Amino acid sequence: MIKAIGYFIEIIKGALITIRHFVVNMHFHVMKLLHIRTKRKGAVTIQYPEERKEIATRHRSLHRLMKRDNGQPRCVACMLCATVCPSECIYIEAAEDPDPEIQKYPSTFIIDISRCCFCGFCVEACPEDAIRMDTEQLDFSGYDRTKFVYDLEKLLG
Ligand code: SF4
Ligand code: SF4
Repeated sequence: MIKAIGYFIEIIKGALITIRHFVVNMHFHVMKLLHIRTKRKGAVTIQYPEERKEIATRHRSLHRLMKRDNGQPRCVACMLCATVCPSECIYIEAAEDPDPEIQKYPSTFIIDISRCCFCGFCVEACPEDAIRMDTEQLDFSGYDRTKFVYDLEKLLG
């Protein structure tokens, strides 16, 4: 009998905690709808994907390749990013550039995002600031792996 009473007390305690969270969260949700600022910024569920949470400036998201003023890739196909990549998901083919100052450019530049661990080593290693991970694109989906293969065209945007 005492055990049963203890059991019901615990159920009531649990229900009270749930009700408290419901009321508090509802309060913050209503305040947000009314555009009233509150202390607890994180209390309201982000209405993803319509709303997106602000992410830190130093985040690492999908890669992009930077362009020169003439629209050509800034990359000089030095292979440093491909060499340092721990997931071996960068594939580059180099071609001769007619400009002797540049010497080489990537005729093929592929990143297999399905294998990437988003370590950022490729960005750190690049001597030309030709590759960045600041697109804020973090949600990937696809029915087959080819959707995650980003080539030169996709990476240059
Ligand atoms: S973030 Fe890391 S794993 Fe991904 S491509 Fe760059 S070096 Fe490779
Ligand atoms: S490290 Fe930079 S310049 Fe070298 S191949 Fe990679 S993106 Fe191109």
